[in-house]
Formats: sequence, C-alpha cells, structure tokens
Amino acid sequence: MMEWLLQLWRPALEILILAVGIYYGFVLIRGTKGAPVLTGFLVLLLALTFITVVLDLKVLRWLLTTFFAFFLVAILILFQPELRRILAELGSTSLFASAHEQRENIEIIVKTCERLSEARIGALMAIEQSIGLHDAVESGITVDCEATPEMLETIFFPNNAIHDGGVILKGDRILYAACIFPLTQQQGLSPSLGTRHRAAIGLSEETDAIVVVVSEETGAISVAYRGQLTRGLSLEELRAFLSNLLVKAKPPRWLARVRDYLPQRFRPAPPVAAKSEMK
Ligand code: ATP
Ligand code: MG
Repeated sequence: MMEWLLQLWRPALEILILAVGIYYGFVLIRGTKGAPVLTGFLVLLLALTFITVVLDLKVLRWLLTTFFAFFLVAILILFQPELRRILAELGSTSLFASAHEQRENIEIIVKTCERLSEARIGALMAIEQSIGLHDAVESGITVDCEATPEMLETIFFPNNAIHDGGVILKGDRILYAACIFPLTQQQGLSPSLGTRHRAAIGLSEETDAIVVVVSEETGAISVAYRGQLTRGLSLEELRAFLSNLLVKAKPPRWLARVRDYLPQRFRPAPPVAAKSEMK
C-alpha cells in the first residue's frame, strides 16, 4: 500500500502542476483578442494529432512532430503582447493583493468619488480583475502611476487633455486614461442615462471589470458589474459594494478553525479597519 502511494505521488504532482498551469493560462488569456485564435489553433492541432494517430498517417505525423517547435515559436510571436502582460502580472503583487491592500485600494476609489461627487466632476473608472481590459477598450493613454485620489481628480478635472473617457485601474495603479469603453446595446435603459453610464454598463458586460461612475450632472455615484448598473450609492454603500467583490479576506474554514486553537498571542492581527473619517 505504502509502496503504491510512493509510486503515485510523482504523477499526481505532475497532474496538479499541469492543471494549475493550464487553469491560470486560461484565466490570463481569457477575454483577450488572441484567445479565440489560440483556441482554434489548439483544437486544430489536437484534431490533426488525433487523426494521424488513429489512421496512422505517417507523413502527417512526421510533419507534426518536426514542426512542433515552429508552432511553439509561432505562438510566442503571435501572443507576444499577451505573454508580456501575463509575465508582468505574475511579477506584480496585485494578483496576490492582501485584504488589507485591497481595502486601501477601495478607500482610494471611495475618497476620489467623494471629492468628485461634491465638485460635480464626471468620472468613469474601471477596476480590472482577471480579464485584461486593454483589448476591450479603444484608444487610451498609458499612465502607469500610483493611484491616489489627487491623481484621479486631476485626470478627470474638466478641460485637461485626458479628462474625457475612462481610466483603467489595477490594484493600486492607474494603468490608462482617456479610454473609450464599448457602449451597451441594452434596450429600455432609463433615458436619463447618457453615454458615460452606458459605457460603464457596456464594459462590465464584456469583461469582469467593476466600473464606477460619478455623474457630472447630479454627482450621483453608480457601479456597473456584470451588465447591471446600481445607481445612487452612498459612500458607505460604495465601500460595501467594492469590498464584497474585491476583498477575498475570508480564510478557508479549516484555517479559521486552526486559528481558533492558537493562543491569542500567536493569532494574526485583524486587518486594519477602513478609515471612515477620510474626507
Ligand atoms: P453624466 O451624468 O455625467 O452627464 P451621462 O451618462 O449623462 O453622464 P454624458 O453626459 O453623455 O453621459 O457624458 C459624456 C461623457 O462621458 C464624455 O464627455 C466622456 O468623457 C464620457 N464618455 C462618453 N462615452 C464614452 C465611452 N464610450 N467611453 C468612455 N467614456 C465615455
Ligand atoms: Mg449627461
């Protein structure tokens, strides 16, 4: 029994590593323009391999094995932008942002909305999640700086060169500004919703982004997620909405139980409470 288990761990580990690799590869490439091409390419390759093995087509099999390395190089060239993004994301800490960091990022958005809403400055901010937004939006200017309420307020300040359009945020960074988001095709939306709100809904339909809107006309704060627009949120409601979606703080139940058994002084400190007095 023991011997059998010892023999099994190696293939099990290999399957696990492959499964995790394929899963993350899929998640990172999903939603990009190259995804359908890659899917088609892989399906074609699998089908060809299957046919050559079943029908024992020797020439085709020779061609496939000989040119396999060329296929890999072709994929690397075709998907160079995507691969660069994937490597950049793996290198960044945003994938592994802790609950505390996420709360800080949320506070930046809440504070920005508070200021812009009071000043009646229109804003459109997309928070990128697992699907890269760069391919879903048109134009856009690379900003790549730390996200702060001051910076966001400056971007949306009327009459500056990049105030029109939306920004893309990822973790604690502003990636792009002045982006044109896709407009929703939904019929029967309230006529009071203009293009800014329709663009927020549109992007949230095509991707898993959370899109926050501040209305220039009313100062109202809304959030679009998965094609649904929630309008007229208070700052507290906005914070709760974003926390629900972004803060994955809840530890697995087994970990919570283990922690309960630990003496008090060994337990990790709870995340710092959100600074509700921020103005
Ligand atoms: P508000 O309540 O702020 O007036 P609204 O939903 O009524 O918003 P508009 O008044 O049409 O929308 O807002 C126009 C502004 O929205 C534009 O100046 C531009 O900054 C932004 N906007 C419009 N269309 C898009 C788009 N497709 N992508 C990004 N931003 C857009
Ligand atoms: Mg308007």
